[in-house]
Amino acid sequence: MNLFAAFEPIAAIATTPQSTQLLHPLCQSLRATLYVPETLSLIDSTTCHYQDSLKAHLATIWAENKAFIFCLATGAVIRLIAPLLEDKGSDPAIIVIDPKGQYVISLCSGHQGGADRLAQLIAQQLNATPIITGASHSLNLPAIDILGLPFGWRKGPGDWTRVSHAIASQKRVQVVQEAGSRLWQDNLPQNHHFYFGFPEIEENAPIAARVWISATKRKFAEGSTFPKVQWYPRVLWVGIGCIRGTSQGLIESAIEEVCLKYHLATEAIAGIATIDIKADEVGIVEYCQEKQYPLFTYSSDVLNTIKVPNPSEVVKEEVGTASVAEAAAIYGANYWFSYGGNKEKETENREQIELENSLLVTKQVIKSDNEAVTVAIAQSELEYTGKEGTIYLVGMGPGSLEQITPAAKTAINQADAIIGYSLYLELIESLQRPGQIIESLPITKEKQRAQRAIELAQWGLSVAVISSGDCGIYGMAGLVLEELKNINWNGKIPNIEVFPGITALQAAAARVGTPLMHDFCAISLSDLLTPWEVIKQRLESAAIGDFVTALYNPRSQTRQNQIVEAQSIFLQHRNPNTPVALVRCAYRQDETIILTNLEEMLNHNIDMLTTVLIGNSSTFFHKNWMITPRGYNQLRV
Ligand code: SAH
Repeated sequence: MNLFAAFEPIAAIATTPQSTQLLHPLCQSLRATLYVPETLSLIDSTTCHYQDSLKAHLATIWAENKAFIFCLATGAVIRLIAPLLEDKGSDPAIIVIDPKGQYVISLCSGHQGGADRLAQLIAQQLNATPIITGASHSLNLPAIDILGLPFGWRKGPGDWTRVSHAIASQKRVQVVQEAGSRLWQDNLPQNHHFYFGFPEIEENAPIAARVWISATKRKFAEGSTFPKVQWYPRVLWVGIGCIRGTSQGLIESAIEEVCLKYHLATEAIAGIATIDIKADEVGIVEYCQEKQYPLFTYSSDVLNTIKVPNPSEVVKEEVGTASVAEAAAIYGANYWFSYGGNKEKETENREQIELENSLLVTKQVIKSDNEAVTVAIAQSELEYTGKEGTIYLVGMGPGSLEQITPAAKTAINQADAIIGYSLYLELIESLQRPGQIIESLPITKEKQRAQRAIELAQWGLSVAVISSGDCGIYGMAGLVLEELKNINWNGKIPNIEVFPGITALQAAAARVGTPLMHDFCAISLSDLLTPWEVIKQRLESAAIGDFVTALYNPRSQTRQNQIVEAQSIFLQHRNPNTPVALVRCAYRQDETIILTNLEEMLNHNIDMLTTVLIGNSSTFFHKNWMITPRGYNQLRV
């Protein structure tokens, strides 16, 4: 599980046997190193002794860890870390847990250091209460100084403290967003005080601060005390061409010069695009490596399809396309991201004129001695995140929060985006955190839900796809993997992690006793995706085989008769007295349980929220309990 990877390396400190017992299992899930004083014995090789004072020890491991977890009094922790703290942009996350493990406190570096998020994740693991004291969190708002991180935005200049304060004071804050995803806007709480307007707003509604989100480098007037900050989404695609052998230095200075001239922020550069014959151009390759820019190269045939403002016959004769820099910039900006690799299809559909509009800077030639670089810049609608996405396939159990595994809770809390059916999303609302992107789609749109999850993950987000029960049993997990297969997924990117959940048959069984004690099977009566003939055959086999049988999706408004047929198939092979349990909404507020038998089961309400458990020939009721005997003559358990 790499849910904590973003925080690694993590150090944990315990000074008593009780706190060691508490932190040790946690450190196993977090892959953290646990440090204890020499007076305590080591539990295993993941635990280390520290010599001398804890203060001196902390100083030696401070720089190499991204997060510290203390099981100590907060006062002691404050005194220990005080001399080491430098700046909230670089300090590690500091977490304090009480010795009983009831509270997980985000003590320091809550936003940029990630302590708020880490505290929430650890709290899910320990089933504890996270203590987050930052103002934006209590207002259910994303923190402005980490707003763009899921989308790979780069942080620009500004007075972050005062802008954060204006937001926390619920003053009106103007947002001017000229680039990048607006998904964060769609997921703000209703009573937020952001004003999305440009350039000025009504006189009688003064604004207290401003947030710029753009690729343009704003010059903040000197001496102005008005609080403002800037985020740079990575939307600029720099198309370049150059004479063979042009140095990295000239390429870099040319790009910087052009950005400066057109007031564009180099921080907003997404990547570099050029013609394929330049894929091995040393200056370009080294420049991209140093800046960690992706380098996209296109064939002359592809570049030739793009209409550009400044085509050149000379270039065309030389390399087969009338434009390298402009065409590559436009192509990169429009096609760096294309869901499922459907590039050709998309190219056909886009109007040339629309593509051309993305060009911000037409080709500029920068020369020096016998070197020359051509630079053009286009802006993409969707920013480059620079991240590899992950999909968490999460089973949330039957309904109540206690029935979700801590790992699944952690995944839900950790994800940048959560996708699921709205009923389920409501049930897990308390696990969500401010700033998450929440998308629900109607119940019949499972395939679209899977595609959307893949799209967001391919873009670079971590996405939790929520199924009720277990995600791999009549759940979303299969749809996501099938869809990935359809687009020729390489098995690695996006990364997939599956989090199992308690499936309906287990939940239903637990509410009535031990009906699944012997061999059992699950059959879904939904013939939306499976032919009814196949389902009938399986019902028949289960009935003949004397399996305890759990029927999922027994009846819906449009599918009324399947359960009637299922009953009659079972009656052909089983005693009419066979115990049957109808468990509806197990572990939810409106749970109902009916114990009946095969003959009478249809006299009761059965719907899409019900699981039907049909016993085998040995199953019996005792009082209110449904029991299937363990079954072997000589019980060896
Ligand atoms: N992935 C889910 C199953 C989804 S199919 C799981 O593993 O449980 C939907 C069917 O599951 C419903 O029609 C119903 O038969 C059953 N189901 C889901 N949640 C249930 C609950 N809380 N109580 C009873 N049955 C439930």
